[in-house]
Amino acid sequence: MTERSPETQHKGVPIPPTLGRLLCAITLHDYRVVEVNSSFGSGTVETRQCRRCNIRHLRQGR
Ligand SMILES: [Zn+2]
Repeated sequence: MTERSPETQHKGVPIPPTLGRLLCAITLHDYRVVEVNSSFGSGTVETRQCRRCNIRHLRQGR
């Protein structure tokens, strides 16, 4: 059997929810890219969202 899970692909070790909330509290969010906008000037802007607390963060590339 082959098991595929995005969470376990992340770093190999799944993070317990309690530890995840603690990491979010110290702004170590577990971001995933939900949107990439490439029409922002000459660079790209990634919209990232935390899997745990759903906070959104814009990250501007070059
Ligand atoms: Zn978070």
